[in-house]
Amino acid sequence: QTAIRRTKFTGDLKSAARDVSVEELREALDLDQFVLRYQPKEEFAVTGASKYSAECLVRWQHPTQGLIYPDRFIALIERQGWMPDLTTIVFNQAIRQQRQWQQDGLQINLSINVSASDITSLTLPETISRLLADNELDTTTITLEVTESELMGELTTSLDVLTRLRLKGVRLSIDDFGTGYSSLLQLFRMPFSELKIDQSFVSKMVVDMEALAIVQACILLGEQFNMRVVAEGVEDLATKELLAELGCQVVQGYFIAKPMAAEDLRPWLARQLKP
Ligand code: C2E
Ligand code: MG
Ligand code: MG
Repeated sequence: QTAIRRTKFTGDLKSAARDVSVEELREALDLDQFVLRYQPKEEFAVTGASKYSAECLVRWQHPTQGLIYPDRFIALIERQGWMPDLTTIVFNQAIRQQRQWQQDGLQINLSINVSASDITSLTLPETISRLLADNELDTTTITLEVTESELMGELTTSLDVLTRLRLKGVRLSIDDFGTGYSSLLQLFRMPFSELKIDQSFVSKMVVDMEALAIVQACILLGEQFNMRVVAEGVEDLATKELLAELGCQVVQGYFIAKPMAAEDLRPWLARQLKP
C-alpha cells in the first residue's frame, strides 16, 4: 500500500519489490548509480528564503528496475559494511549540489541522513569539514540526521564523533524520535540541535489522542533542551495547523512537498515565496 502511495506522490516509478543482490549493489556503489531527491522543510516563524531547508534522500537508479528506495538497500549496505561508500557518494552529491545552488544565488541548508556506522568513524568529522571547505561552504549549512534507534550502539565512540562534528559547527538532528530506546539522560548528553518527531505519531495526531500526547511531549522536550523541533510526515492542512498551534517550529511531509529532483527545488521555492 505504501508502495502505491509513494508512486502516486513522488511521480517516480517504483519497481516491483524483489530482493536486490549483493553483486548488483556492489556494482551500483562502484559505478555510482545513486541519485538524490530533496524534500523541503518549512519553518513557521521565518519569512523569506531561509524559511526553507531541504533533506537529501537517496535513491538507487537501477539500470533495469528503475528507481529503488532506501528501504530496499540500506540494510544490505549496512550488513555488507559498505556504508562508508554510500555515505561518501551521498555527501559528494549533496555538497556539489549545494555549492551549485550557492553559486546560483540560492542559499539553502541541507540535511543529510547518516547511519550508525558513520558516526562511529573517527575520521568522519575531518572528512566532512574538508569536503565543505573545498567547496567553500560553511559547516553550519549542514545538518546530519541520525536515527534515534541507531544512536545507542556504540555510545562512547559516537558521542566522541558527534561532539567533534558539533564543535566544527555541523548541526545534528535525532531522526525518528520516539521510536528508539534511548534514555533521556543518554539522549541529552549528546550534542543535538534538532529533534524530528517520528512520522508514525505525526500522521495520526489529529485523530489519535495517544499520538497527539506523544507529539506534545516531544515538543515540550525540544523546548526544554533548546532543540529545534521538526515534525515529519505532515500529510494534511489540519496536521500542519495543529502543529503550529502546539509550538512545533518546523514541518516536513507530503503536504508541504514530496521529495523532488534538484532541478525542481528552485522553481518550487520560487512559487512558495511569491507574494
Ligand atoms: P527518514 O530520514 O526518516 O526520511 C523520511 C522518509 O519518509 C523518506 O522516505 C520520505 O520520502 C518519507 N516521507 C516524507 N514525507 C512523508 C509523508 O508525508 N508521508 C509519508 N508516508 N512518508 C513521507 P525514503 O526516502 O524512502 O527514506 C527512508 C529512510 O531511508 C529515511 O528515513 C532514512 O532513514 C533512510 N535514508 C534515506 N536517504 C539516506 C541516505 O542518504 N543515507 C542513509 N544512511 N540513509 C538514508
Ligand atoms: Mg531523515
Ligand atoms: Mg524519519
